[in-house]
Amino acid sequence: MHPDIKLILDLQSVDQRIAELQKEIAALPRHLAEIEKALDSHNRRLEADRAALAANQKERKRLEGDVQMQEQKISKLKSQMLEAKTNEQYRAFQHEIEFCENEIRKYEDRILELMAESEPLEKNVKAAEEALRQERAQVEAEKARVTARTAADRQQLEQLKLQREQISQQVKPALLNAYQRIRKRWNTTNVAVEANEGRCTACHLALRPQFFQDLRKGDQVMFCESCGRILYYHPTIVVDEQSGGPVDSSGSSTPPAPPLQASSQAQGSASASSAARSASEFHPMPIRRL
Ligand SMILES: [Zn+2]
Repeated sequence: MHPDIKLILDLQSVDQRIAELQKEIAALPRHLAEIEKALDSHNRRLEADRAALAANQKERKRLEGDVQMQEQKISKLKSQMLEAKTNEQYRAFQHEIEFCENEIRKYEDRILELMAESEPLEKNVKAAEEALRQERAQVEAEKARVTARTAADRQQLEQLKLQREQISQQVKPALLNAYQRIRKRWNTTNVAVEANEGRCTACHLALRPQFFQDLRKGDQVMFCESCGRILYYHPTIVVDEQSGGPVDSSGSSTPPAPPLQASSQAQGSASASSAARSASEFHPMPIRRL
């Protein structure tokens, strides 16, 4: 492999690690915000259940007070009834007492209803309190984990940036410029790609046989005629069954794709898989040889 390509591949692998780390560093706060939002909504649900339970208990207390009042009224009426002079008066007291007793029954029925309602509410609140306690602990642990991870990522990022600097200094300035340009143009960390079975593995352009042969020689840095990425050739070693020796798998046994017409090259839509992409995506770059 051409030594410049080797450097570019080293640079690319460092850039890929850097991109991964930056993506992770950016994703971690979002992840934290999501779990905190879930915790918040669980907290609010618990507060609502607690409020419902408190309202239930308040109403019960009020009704119990009402029952007591009616009972006091009844005992007062009963003692007044003893002093009734006429049957009419007696019946009037009796009637009033019956009314109070009726009120008490209504209050008590409602108290029973409230008791039935409070049971699941109490259970909900208790379960939610326990679940929230656990969730809070998990969120705290996750926060600590994220903080540690972010710090470790940042540290690693600094090291990678140093490493990148060291590699960059060894790459020829023109090639480094080309690398940066391709990276920006495709917004990718796949700047240098393998040519496999006579094709660019990024845009799937079938390379011209002469181009592919030159690439296989590995004595120059070559760029894909369609997507402009840096191409490299990585021979696969296979064992020839007859001779027992290694053969180049992409040699004569794999015929390179037929040469392209200049017009289809310009459109970069010659291969079946790239045909799906719109031709306007391709802005062919002239071959640059460094
Ligand atoms: Zn390509």
